[in-house]
Amino acid sequence: MRITYACPACHTTVAIDGLESVPALECPACRASVPIPVAAWGGEDAAPRLLRCLVCPSTELFVRKDFPQRLGLAIVVIGLAASCVAWANRELVATFAILFGSALLDVLLFFLMPDCLSCYRCGARYRGEGLTSHFGGFDLETHEKHRQLAARTRGLAADRAGRATDPNTT
Ligand SMILES: [Zn+2]
Ligand SMILES: [Zn+2]
Repeated sequence: MRITYACPACHTTVAIDGLESVPALECPACRASVPIPVAAWGGEDAAPRLLRCLVCPSTELFVRKDFPQRLGLAIVVIGLAASCVAWANRELVATFAILFGSALLDVLLFFLMPDCLSCYRCGARYRGEGLTSHFGGFDLETHEKHRQLAARTRGLAADRAGRATDPNTT
């Protein structure tokens, strides 16, 4: 299993393979280490199942397509540009062939891509075998809950920082 996450200390994107056997997640940039939380793994030893996020360690994760959004967007943009060229050259059939072709390619790509797991709270992503049996798809309500929680935490931190630098409010 493989994880991609933003290091909580330096925000570098870190990717680690062979998750099942690592004692902790270590950031190669700043050496900050995140210990694997208790009860993170379930299932049998031969086929461990992830039960919570290893970074934050929320138990709320969702299944999503491991779709490279930039590639998807690039196909659409290139398709549009090419169809405009064909349109300018009065190639009607080619124009629509390119448009439909690029849309079809995007749809195909989406269905061919494997699933991955994503954490609502910290955005960590998990890829590999046996990940998606335990969790459901994206839920807007859960997403909103975590978004508001994160905003409130940020607000509190800013508040505290403001009070620490302002000598009049003690
Ligand atoms: Zn780091
Ligand atoms: Zn997380």
